[in-house]
Amino acid sequence: MIDLHTHTTASDGTDKPFEMLANARKAGLTMVAMTDHDTTEGWREVKAQRNQIPEGLTIIPGAEVSTRTELGMSVHIVGLLFDAENQQLAKLLSDTRDDRIPRMEKMIEKLLAAGYQVTMEDVEEVKPAGATLGRPHLADALIKNGIVASRDEAFEELLHNNSQFYVSHWAPSPVEAIRAIAAAGGVSILAHPFAEKRGPVLTFGEVTDLAAAGLNGIERNKRDQDEAAHSKIDQLARDHNLIKVGSSDYHGSARANQLGEEQTPLDLWENLASNASGDEVFTR
Ligand code: AMP
Ligand code: ZN
Ligand code: FE
Ligand code: FE
Repeated sequence: MIDLHTHTTASDGTDKPFEMLANARKAGLTMVAMTDHDTTEGWREVKAQRNQIPEGLTIIPGAEVSTRTELGMSVHIVGLLFDAENQQLAKLLSDTRDDRIPRMEKMIEKLLAAGYQVTMEDVEEVKPAGATLGRPHLADALIKNGIVASRDEAFEELLHNNSQFYVSHWAPSPVEAIRAIAAAGGVSILAHPFAEKRGPVLTFGEVTDLAAAGLNGIERNKRDQDEAAHSKIDQLARDHNLIKVGSSDYHGSARANQLGEEQTPLDLWENLASNASGDEVFTR
């Protein structure tokens, strides 16, 4: 059982890296990709203490790369098996992480101006050390201060992409990210395309452009996508030789998504991985 998209406390998941792995094994996974937002710290920590990896579990190193289109739309690209020491890609990730700090300050300013009591100190208090800073941490600070009851409520009421409190951060364009992942020997997968419940989405034509830029795979799942989305994905996969990937986008207890709820068959994984020449999978 293979799950190609998960989060830990290295970004906005709630399981520590080794907790996520223990849960992955419990769920029956044999391979799990660690794809925290804009960071490789989660799986690096695991790799440094390999003897603690649950028996029978193989780790696929990766990251979910935040990108931004010219018109300012947020697009996520899951990169796997890239060389994490590649300087160009590492800089894209660190530039994005850096700009998440002033971005958070601006969002807090807007919330404060509207009478929502929350500070950067509150956010720092709830954010795990070293985690890529994100809106979910702001949500957790709002929960701590009794303003909302859950991350879901925080996003629905205050933090969604069309909210007056939303501020974007710098990120590479999707094409730039796909090229940088490829140049680092990795493969790239378009995360949750056509997931209209999540916010504005790329058009069919824009995804076609990403395929032309070297995209290798595309996520297909039941939770975020309807039938119309599935037929677009199926057609894009056929026309551009994209591998259809099933993955959970697990975030621990913060989201309903369960490890292994969507899976990628072994033959499709092997096909995808055959395009990579960067870092390799590892186990205990
Ligand atoms: P950011 O990268 O800071 O813009 O935050 C985006 C992240 O927030 C996404 O990657 C999701 O993990 C998370 N997110 C989006 N919508 C929700 C929601 N309704 N409930 C909880 N987390 C969410
Ligand atoms: Zn996330
Ligand atoms: Fe995502
Ligand atoms: Fe994700």
